[in-house]
Amino acid sequence: MAYTYDDQNVFAKILRGEIPNDTVLETAHSLAFRDINAQAPTHVLVIPKGRYVNFDHFAAEATEAEIVDFIRAVGEVCRIEGVAADRGEGYRLIANAGRHGVQEVPHLHVHVIGGRVLGRMLPAAG
Ligand code: 5GP
Repeated sequence: MAYTYDDQNVFAKILRGEIPNDTVLETAHSLAFRDINAQAPTHVLVIPKGRYVNFDHFAAEATEAEIVDFIRAVGEVCRIEGVAADRGEGYRLIANAGRHGVQEVPHLHVHVIGGRVLGRMLPAAG
């Protein structure tokens, strides 16, 4: 099944400059900005600039330059936010995909969350 990208999703609008964002880092292929509804003192979203719906789409179709840039951008955000585990207290990365992942915005994003103890990874099944 082919991946279908919706150019009207809110992160596409952010990338086009149609919606403002609080930028943490911009690189050649990636943008990192603060989540509008932060769940912790650090809550940054890292997105590729390319039209990728989710992580598996990105892994399958992104160029190596895009993949390297994106992964390094995530690491750089951890350092900028002071949560990188060599100096800070650590963080959690989350990439929701699809219906079971309860993905709200259909443009790949990794949540970088930290600044407090985050509790168990998942709530009890229910
Ligand atoms: P998802 O559930 O898709 O993994 O997460 C989407 C995230 O995008 C949510 O945490 C939500 O708060 C955030 N978000 C939705 N709309 C906007 C927006 O317009 N600006 C920013 N900065 N974040 C947004």
